[in-house]
Amino acid sequence: MAKTDGQRWRVGPGTKVHLDKIDTRSTAGAPGDRAATDEAVAGLLGELQGLQERLYAEGKQSLLVVLQAIDAGGKDGTIKHVFRGLNPASCRVVSFKVPSEEERSHDFLWRVHNKAPAKGDVVVFNRSHYEDVLVVRVHNLVPEDVWRPRYEMLNDFESTLAAAGTRIVKLYLHISKEEQAERFQARIDDPSKNWKFRTADLEDRARWDAYVDAFEEAISRTSTATAPWYVIPADRKWYRNWAVSRILVETLADMDPQYPPAEDLTGVVIT
Ligand code: ADP
Repeated sequence: MAKTDGQRWRVGPGTKVHLDKIDTRSTAGAPGDRAATDEAVAGLLGELQGLQERLYAEGKQSLLVVLQAIDAGGKDGTIKHVFRGLNPASCRVVSFKVPSEEERSHDFLWRVHNKAPAKGDVVVFNRSHYEDVLVVRVHNLVPEDVWRPRYEMLNDFESTLAAAGTRIVKLYLHISKEEQAERFQARIDDPSKNWKFRTADLEDRARWDAYVDAFEEAISRTSTATAPWYVIPADRKWYRNWAVSRILVETLADMDPQYPPAEDLTGVVIT
């Protein structure tokens, strides 16, 4: 695998993202049709497992994966399909909900910082510190002069994590408004999916354009060399799983975790 494959989806520092120019149904670079791509994903997940074990054994670096999307964008499906093979001893998913009263009585990063990965760990943020410039902006939960300075604060926060050995990969799952409609409808029509749908989701759907603006600005202003954003075409779930798996394998391979040197075991025989 070429080292630079993830660059297909990566947002270069300082680049202004236009989401409407990125095809949500793209399958660019996929190894073949759906079946061939699923097979490739299985291979990548095997690689991921091996790399995670080395990261854990090494105990010097960590990986933070930030997952963001519009409702029904596929965050849960990505977690289920891509992270299922990892060793739970050193992999954790943290889901960020509406902040509690205690969380709201602190600065917006307070609840996030101590969920960041310890050395050796992989942590997935299902929603994240970015909600504070996304839902908060779209719903006017705080005035603009409060949320606007947060882009810089987000960059500073991520620099702090990076300086402590954390690699940060930020994934935006990019679906179309039509695809969201189909996924919502499936959640309404299929009783086993009803639990995933809330009528409040429609209020957010009505604010689609405001969310697109908020995502575009957040991604454009916070995609840095140390913590890049990747925009993943995600209408096709099989392509999304493949793209995410590739980015993770590529990132971990680049981190190149090493097993720690063994003790001198010459002549040691267990009796
Ligand atoms: P999900 O949609 O991720 O599967 P939920 O249905 O529990 O999970 O939704 C979590 C909700 O919490 C979302 O509506 C999200 O916008 C909200 N949320 C997360 N972080 C914040 C925040 N910092 N401020 C306000 N709302 C937030």
